[in-house]
Order: sequence, then C-alpha cells, then structure tokens
Amino acid sequence: MKIAAPSKINLYLRVCGTLPNGYHEIETLFLPLSDPCDELDIEFTEDGRGEISVSSDLPLPRDGDNLCGRAARAVCSALGITPSIRIFIRKRIPVAAGMGGGSSDAAAVILATQKRYGTLPDGGHAAALSCGADVPLFLHPVPSIGRGVGDRLEPVEGLHLPPVLICPMRFPVSTPWGYRHIKQTGDSRTLNDLLSALKAGNFTEASTFLRNDLAPALWDKFPILQIRRQQLLNAGALEVQITGSGPTLYALFPDEKTKESARRALAEIEAG
Ligand code: ATP
Repeated sequence: MKIAAPSKINLYLRVCGTLPNGYHEIETLFLPLSDPCDELDIEFTEDGRGEISVSSDLPLPRDGDNLCGRAARAVCSALGITPSIRIFIRKRIPVAAGMGGGSSDAAAVILATQKRYGTLPDGGHAAALSCGADVPLFLHPVPSIGRGVGDRLEPVEGLHLPPVLICPMRFPVSTPWGYRHIKQTGDSRTLNDLLSALKAGNFTEASTFLRNDLAPALWDKFPILQIRRQQLLNAGALEVQITGSGPTLYALFPDEKTKESARRALAEIEAG
C-alpha cells in the first residue's frame, strides 16, 4: 500500500504552562501541507510473526526505533493482530525541522493499518498519542487548533489561507532543545485575532498575529534565520515565522506571483 504523509506548520504557538509530567501545555494553530510530504510503501504479511521493519532513503532510525515502528506496534496491539509489516519511507519532509515529519509518518502507518484491518473505536487516537503529541493531528490533517500538548484538536473551518513558502535550513533542532530554551517576551497576540483575520481573508493583518513562543531563542542562537527572514521580507513576504521548534521558516505572501518570484530570488541567493 502506498500512502502520502503530509507535513505541517504552526501558524500560532503559545506556550501556556508546564504540566505535572514535565510536558508543556500549548495553544497552537496547525496548518497541514501536502508539499513537502513523505511517501510510504507499506507491505502487510499475515504470518502472525509480528515482525516490523522500517527503512528509508535517508539515514533515519530503523525498525522499532523509527516512529513508524512504534506506531505499527501500537496500532497492532490495539487491534489485537500480529501481521508482519515492512515499511519504506521516501523522506521528503526535512528531519527535526518543526514540520512534524516523524509524527506524520507514524500517523500514516496507523491509518494504513486500520484501512487494512479495521478502524479502532477511537480512530487510532490513543495509538497515535502514544507515539507523540503531534501524531493525532495527522490522522485527520485539516487546519486545527491544538490544545493540551497539542493533541486536543478542534478543526477550524472557513479560513482563507495566504500563499505559504517553506524555507528549510540545513541543520536540525531537537524539540526538547526548543522547549528548554523558551524566553519570556510578553507577547500578547491572541489566537482569536489571528483566526478573525484569516476568516476575513485579511492576509496583511493575519501576518501581524503569527506567534511562536519557541522562536525567540532560535532567532538569537542562529543568526542565519534572521538573515533568511530579511531576504524573504525583501522579496515581498508579509511576515516570516518559525514553525514548531524550528528551524524551518515559513513566509506568508499576498499572492502566488510574489511567492513564486521570492522562491526564485531565494534559490539564486542559495546557489551563491
Ligand atoms: P515535531 O515538529 O513533531 O516536533 P520535527 O518535525 O521537529 O517534529 P521529526 O522530523 O519528526 O522532527 O524528527 C524528530 C526525531 O525523530 C529525529 O531526530 C529522528 O531521529 C527521529 N525519527 C524517528 N522516526 C522518524 C521518522 N519516520 N521521520 C523523521 N524522524 C524520525
């Protein structure tokens, strides 16, 4: 079975506090993207041996150490089945980049396994959450508010979305690093303000409400992010923000034409 695993950006990410288990409570607006997306080949064999193998065209953790392996075990255990599953990931989503790639791959395995063997009463939510806070989003990848650790999801309808350009970096940032280095900045922008602007289709106003409480530490630590941000603004971006725990940047544009000319301008700068 072939299945695509979309990526995501966070148009808003407010850290509300720390939970007793050490996790952070957040309020976020997830925007799933079909580009970039990973492509998974998943092969099921009903031999009752429960052997799970995971490989990729990029050097990623293999088998049970890959989030896909964990997801396969979690969903099979919930379904009470023991097929052998072979998974191959064509990795297109930048790794450790704040785009949810591992989470999306895990959700793709849960969806594919349910398609083959039957849907769980909770749609696979518990199996997904056992693999990571961002995994449940990808079971139903539509623009959604995430609360709790990001797993209490509320789909949002009626948003007008501006053209978005993704600007990946060549270095990874681990999610725990991001959460260890949160800086208090007194940012008071609310999710409601952002949602109202997007519902009205006012992209200029929406771009003033992009917020990410994990971003200030990243802007400080990695000056290249500031440089890229400025290049994107010079190329016509309304605003540039970091997604999740970074370091990927995304830029909002007023229209497709400006976005495409910015894409070309950045490619030229990168080519040197
Ligand atoms: P998020 O935005 O959900 O916090 P991320 O996009 O920043 O995550 P991922 O690309 O999901 O980060 O990778 C995080 C770590 O998980 C990597 O360091 C990688 O070693 C490990 N990992 C395990 N399985 C996968 C997978 N299928 N794809 C990518 N990374 C994986």
